Amino acid sequence: MIPLDLSLAEVPSLPAHAARLLAREGIKTVADVVWHLPFRHEDRRQMQALAFQAGLLPSCHHVLVTKTGNKFFGGRSGVFEAVVRHATGLLGQQLTLKWWNMPFMSRVLAEGQELIVYGVIKDSKGRLSMSHPEYEIVKGGADDDAEQIHTGRITPIYRLKGAMTQKALRVAAWHVCQALPGAFCEDLLPTPSAEGEFAGLTRSLALREGHFPASMEKLEQARRYLALEEFYGYQLRVARRKRRVIESGGRKQIGTGELLRDFFNELPFQLTTAQQRCLEEIHRDMASGAPMNRLLHGDVGSGKTVVAFAAMLRAVESGRQAVLMAPTQILAEQHAINARKWLEPLGLRVALRTGSKREDGDGLELMERSARVPRAGSRVSRETHPASSQETRYSRRRLPHFERPWAKYFVTFSTAARRKLPENARQIVLDAIRHFHGNRYHLYAACVMPDHVHMLIEPAISEREPGADAPVFHKLADILHSLKSFTAHEIVKAGWQDQRVWEKESFDRLIRSEADLREKFEYIVGNPQEAGLVGPEEEYAWLWPSGDGAPRDAEHGTRDACAPSIVIGTHALLHDAELMHNTGIVIIDEQHKFGVAQRAKLIRKGDTPDVLVMTATPIPRTLTLTIYGDLEVSTIDQKPRDGVKIITKVRPKTKLKDAANFLREQIEEGRQGYIVYALIDESEKLEAGAATKGHEEWSKLLAPCEVGLLHGRMSAEEKEDVMKRFRAGKLDALVSTTVIEVGIDVPNATVMFIHDAGRFGLAQLHQLRGRIGRGAHTSYCVLFVEDKDEENRQRLAIMEETSDGFQIAEEDLRRRGPGDVLGHAQSGQAPLLFGELLADTRLVRLARQLAEKTLDEDPHLQRPALAVFRDEPVVAEKAQAMMQ
Ligand code: ADP
Ligand code: MG
Repeated sequence: MIPLDLSLAEVPSLPAHAARLLAREGIKTVADVVWHLPFRHEDRRQMQALAFQAGLLPSCHHVLVTKTGNKFFGGRSGVFEAVVRHATGLLGQQLTLKWWNMPFMSRVLAEGQELIVYGVIKDSKGRLSMSHPEYEIVKGGADDDAEQIHTGRITPIYRLKGAMTQKALRVAAWHVCQALPGAFCEDLLPTPSAEGEFAGLTRSLALREGHFPASMEKLEQARRYLALEEFYGYQLRVARRKRRVIESGGRKQIGTGELLRDFFNELPFQLTTAQQRCLEEIHRDMASGAPMNRLLHGDVGSGKTVVAFAAMLRAVESGRQAVLMAPTQILAEQHAINARKWLEPLGLRVALRTGSKREDGDGLELMERSARVPRAGSRVSRETHPASSQETRYSRRRLPHFERPWAKYFVTFSTAARRKLPENARQIVLDAIRHFHGNRYHLYAACVMPDHVHMLIEPAISEREPGADAPVFHKLADILHSLKSFTAHEIVKAGWQDQRVWEKESFDRLIRSEADLREKFEYIVGNPQEAGLVGPEEEYAWLWPSGDGAPRDAEHGTRDACAPSIVIGTHALLHDAELMHNTGIVIIDEQHKFGVAQRAKLIRKGDTPDVLVMTATPIPRTLTLTIYGDLEVSTIDQKPRDGVKIITKVRPKTKLKDAANFLREQIEEGRQGYIVYALIDESEKLEAGAATKGHEEWSKLLAPCEVGLLHGRMSAEEKEDVMKRFRAGKLDALVSTTVIEVGIDVPNATVMFIHDAGRFGLAQLHQLRGRIGRGAHTSYCVLFVEDKDEENRQRLAIMEETSDGFQIAEEDLRRRGPGDVLGHAQSGQAPLLFGELLADTRLVRLARQLAEKTLDEDPHLQRPALAVFRDEPVVAEKAQAMMQ
């Protein structure tokens, strides 16, 4: 009986050279071997009976080498061939194994050896061959002991690293399994029920079967058990995180509906049913007390942006800020353009924050706009108080005057004949200002001085006038009027000697910038001291915010007031705590480019805002349950303009001229086009080079049309400038690298050419193609491949047939296998477990149920075996790795 942490060198009967070989690659202990699960198994029980047969699927054979030799075709190219027959010799067939350009194989393989080979058999004119088979020398090689380990059983095949060999690993695993006690580790999963599919299984058993299964059925059962265990761990972490978020408490964001109504009125189209449904789901989440954690999932062009904006408006209506984060600068800028187009007319302030620039609409533009509106009855008058800077201008005017939405005002009014208010009267006024009008304005600061009152307020949206076009705000005049008459009434009741309490007139001043606001704030809170009413460290009783717990400095007290209601940016936002305040919702566009870790960071910045992540990646349900396990999912499963067709063709490069002529025709009709160059896996620099060269070519081909160039090596300003000109129609065509892959939305662009389309995955091509077909015009996508590249022509044919992202993703999956689609997941620790991740929806659900149950019983995962699931960051990294 050996322990798990024993060094391999000390495992009984394990050959020393195998232990040394594995130790060099980091497999040093018994546990290392146990956890290095095979990525597949070969059924080597009855190979004798299998004839060599050409086919599409790989097969496995036990063979004897009868002849070997190198054939050279001049230079260094050549092929090493080994002719083999069945090891039993019962079948007279011959098979030739071929290795191209690997002459050293002659030193590895020799006549008389017995091999196990695994590969696809091809038939060329009656000659059967296998190219680059997986092979293993089972007899006649360096170590051919322990024959029963390698053949005559369901044999594990391990993923190798460095100098490791199949045999060394298998021998080690064999001896480790022999020497370990029956139950060598504690179960993580709850004990399976006696009737279920996992009846009788324990973790130890499953791991044993995972290496050397007794039958294919047992192997499958073990594999599922271990997969369940892995999902369980994942779901435990996710469910814990989710519980924590819920406990941290969200805020109900209900809103007035005013901004949304106006937004939809201005929108040039109706939401599709799918968009509406998703939006309802989102709004329902926002209105609930628990924080929203939702994934908005929809194919390219399904119209996620509008839904996102509508979600943001709900937050703003509820008096909060909305943040939208995009994966690239270009995309952030595009969102900002849309937001300015759609949201600023509603009176909202939109700030853009990307790596290279910061634009906070500081109100100046708004001032200019409002200046154009005639202000009946207003007249500019004298400077009134000492804190004013040179740009401060006070207007003394009769209300009502021009009312600006979301305006903040500094207001002052005095008592009639400047008589002094007694303390009880001052209290009445402060209480009234603070409490009685809470939903009619937002209050930043107020001070009731003996003979006058200062306030810093922002009138709120009024709910009274449904049919109106623009958002209707409470009028400053009305607010002041009712405030004054209410307090006057109360003060008189409390014994004021005169009928008149207040002067008729008030001073008000529109706050125009953050600095302005801060200055007024400081003026108000400093006023009692300034006037000598209180000493330096003393509190003045009729000041708000006061010292009792409320933040007093302008920094905090006014921040909400200055923060823009809409903030759009890239990951730069993660580093800008300053811009983000009172954030009600965070929307993350194109989630997969961000990663879960970053999402967590952003969420930590605000205090449990609602979170909506948007993605166009067609994610199978299983994956949404795992990677996005803590998210609810809304799917926009309908395109807004089903009528618009995208015609896609795969064409050989030689047709480039024809294509150019076609593009020219489209341009003459007023349309625009993209020409994409890409070198997958090459550096950005090379890619930029290809696009630059392409740009020269296309400029000639399309002359005198204007052709722009866009690539990742350009500066942010240059990129933005190019996009601006393309959007404005000043450029007829845009030669670009894949920087345009996500999100770009120029409805007038109807043509897309993709060079070397063969290099792309289908999913990426689909993303790229999503840049066209966004307007009212039929669009055309041409995928150029090498002239005789039949393989890619076939592979890309699906693009000609459908523009349904899910269908394309499925095809991609079918062709590449989940491993490639999931990227790193496959090369991770235990590839076996993820092997059929995509088919295991039921298992994921089961894991989820188990995890919830565990947490109900053991919320802090006290049970020692579960300690591994307590840590948080691992999850994020892993999930991120899975999506890269
Ligand atoms: P994606 O889901 O890829 O982010 P977008 O939000 O960019 O898609 O929307 C694609 C285009 O469709 C945009 O030009 C947008 O204005 C338009 N659009 C969105 N919703 C509708 C709709 N309901 N009816 C018509 N056009 C719409
Ligand atoms: Mg988008």
